[in-house]
Amino acid sequence: MLDITIKKAPPEQLKPKPDEKALGFGAIFTDHMFVMHYDTEKGWHDAQICKYQHFSLDPAAMALHYGQAIFEGLKAYRGKDNQIYLFRPQDNLARMNLSATRMCMPTIDTDDVLSALKRLLKIEQDWVPGINGASLYIRPTMIASEAALGVRPANQYIFFIILSPVGAYYPEGFNPVKIFVTDKYVRAVPGGVGNTKTAGNYAASIMAAVEAQKQGFTQVLWLDAVERKYIEEVGTMNIFFVIGDEVITPPLSGSILPGITRDSVLTLAKEWGLDVVERPIAIDEVFTAAGNGSLKEVFGTGTAAVISPVGSLYYKGETCIVNNGKTGELAQRLFDEMQSMQYGAKTDLFGWVERGTPDSNSL
Ligand SMILES: *Cc1c(COP(=O)(O)O)cnc(C)c1O
Repeated sequence: MLDITIKKAPPEQLKPKPDEKALGFGAIFTDHMFVMHYDTEKGWHDAQICKYQHFSLDPAAMALHYGQAIFEGLKAYRGKDNQIYLFRPQDNLARMNLSATRMCMPTIDTDDVLSALKRLLKIEQDWVPGINGASLYIRPTMIASEAALGVRPANQYIFFIILSPVGAYYPEGFNPVKIFVTDKYVRAVPGGVGNTKTAGNYAASIMAAVEAQKQGFTQVLWLDAVERKYIEEVGTMNIFFVIGDEVITPPLSGSILPGITRDSVLTLAKEWGLDVVERPIAIDEVFTAAGNGSLKEVFGTGTAAVISPVGSLYYKGETCIVNNGKTGELAQRLFDEMQSMQYGAKTDLFGWVERGTPDSNSL
């Protein structure tokens, strides 16, 4: 068991709570955070929940130079019963350990960190928004903090969890996105780090996103790096296609992120008796299907939006419109089902939902 020191911020230093109707994403942070330190001798130590505050980092801190930095993203939801719920949190922490291992960073004890998160959430529970679709975004992060130049695994790290109340992704109902398919840039290569949530992946993706946005698109769809032919994923979402009666998503080839929403959607769709396949899908197949009328739906999956319907795809000067630019039936059904589970309203058949605060009063 991790020994956690709790140093609460004095009441007069607590921040005013924001207007729940105007939250946006990732701009506001709560009063407290969880932090612990690692070095090769002591392992993880000095775990504490303290006031949200700046770090003191040496300018030579290795994360700033060589990019040993990984993160996760999950949410806490306030149910109608006023309880706080988490959705598959152990899966996020297990995935963080996969990222850590790939980046030669230390792993965390997922049980310890989940119980630390629940203690943090108990202290911050008033920050979990109550309005429909809003939630408290949770960002576990690990960075190399050792001050040294030279490319090698660092000997010191900081792990922390910060919390940010976020608004509904689609406050006025779905708004299908316009996607730019890039064959100029690639996100990840076989044998690289595309299947990890490491900071550098996102830095490398920004230019393609900026160019796409300049041309009026919302998101970039990446193709495989070798043939620039097979579909990989969107910026921070996995992607699904409904062609004829088949629900298709690219396989976990090593260069795409193994999304927890992706896995949940695969599980639900199979449970509903749909014909679901994980297989390589070429961009040409999608455009051909659009041409012959068999392309029914396209949607992205990820923690932030849950389900994000795609209204059109642009590739090499051609646009294909999906489902007349409207939200598909399956996308809507998946979104409704996922949301009702996440907010604790629907019976959870899969053991995905758990209370976000500690079960006992033993704190
Ligand atoms: C986080 C992320 C996803 C979605 O993963 P979820 O676990 O469903 O939130 C997909 N692709 C990338 C690149 C991501 O960073």
